[in-house]
Amino acid sequence: MVTIGLDLGGTNIQAVVLDGEEVLAHAKLKTPADGDRTAVLDVLAAAVHQVADRAGTAIDDLDGVGVGTPGVVIDGTVGGASNVPGFLERFALADLLRQRVDRPIRVMNDVTAAAVAEHRLGAGGESDHLLAVFVGTGVGGGLVLDGRPYLGASGGSGEFGHMVVRQGGAVCPCGRRGCVEAYAGRRAMTLAAERARADGWPTILFDVQKELGRSRTSSGVFREALARGDELVADLLDAAVEALGAGIASAVNLLDVDRVVLGGGLADRLGEPFRMQVESATRPLLFLQPPRLQVVAGVLRDRAGATGAALLAADVA
Ligand SMILES: [Zn+2]
Repeated sequence: MVTIGLDLGGTNIQAVVLDGEEVLAHAKLKTPADGDRTAVLDVLAAAVHQVADRAGTAIDDLDGVGVGTPGVVIDGTVGGASNVPGFLERFALADLLRQRVDRPIRVMNDVTAAAVAEHRLGAGGESDHLLAVFVGTGVGGGLVLDGRPYLGASGGSGEFGHMVVRQGGAVCPCGRRGCVEAYAGRRAMTLAAERARADGWPTILFDVQKELGRSRTSSGVFREALARGDELVADLLDAAVEALGAGIASAVNLLDVDRVVLGGGLADRLGEPFRMQVESATRPLLFLQPPRLQVVAGVLRDRAGATGAALLAADVA
């Protein structure tokens, strides 16, 4: 069975072709930074054609196409994704993409897709109860329970970034207060650093950004500022670790998942020291003793979402 998986991110669109569990080809295209959803749909369709070409597969021979997208997915429609042009208001993504690529289309939440890929082909180990936590621009989550992706009553499960870890706490990009993402999302941390700098706190974060020639404070910029001993960045990351620990422990206490897979740009760049810190922040808050929980690093990196989307497309094809 040959399927294509797409992972629609705020910056890039990743695409993979899977034959069963074997990766035949992959591709990466830029997500349109502005315009409307038509521009995004055109690039999604272009990604399908490009990666199919690379795999030497005709579109007609594809068994299905899976799309992992940010936002809340209900029956092929998506809405509530603020970092992709035109994806805030709900619309029929599967139907519109099918007009461009005439194959069965399955749409799913991006981090749920990544959780499925890590469960089956990545860092899942023997676990059938797994929470994926992706720390990047924002903080996403995805659940595999009893070996199957858990979508929730209305497709909105896995919003780990919006678990409240501090009542009345810092403002989150979602507009509420005290969410994990308000402390651990790169966008929120950058805003906090800008405010601190305006208040006179010393930081080299923005100098490092310029020096590395980046248009934004990427995960690599945070890593470099931390490596050079920036105290503000160290404090922000400590608060991020604390929020992640509280959020993960709360999720584990509720669901008894035995494995948490940490991924996303920031977690990937900060590597093993960050994973260990998050695990240490989680352990004292776990209810079940002795804890069976393992916090592990994801292994599929930025292809996890596309790989999971391809796997889930095969499930329904
Ligand atoms: Zn929030």
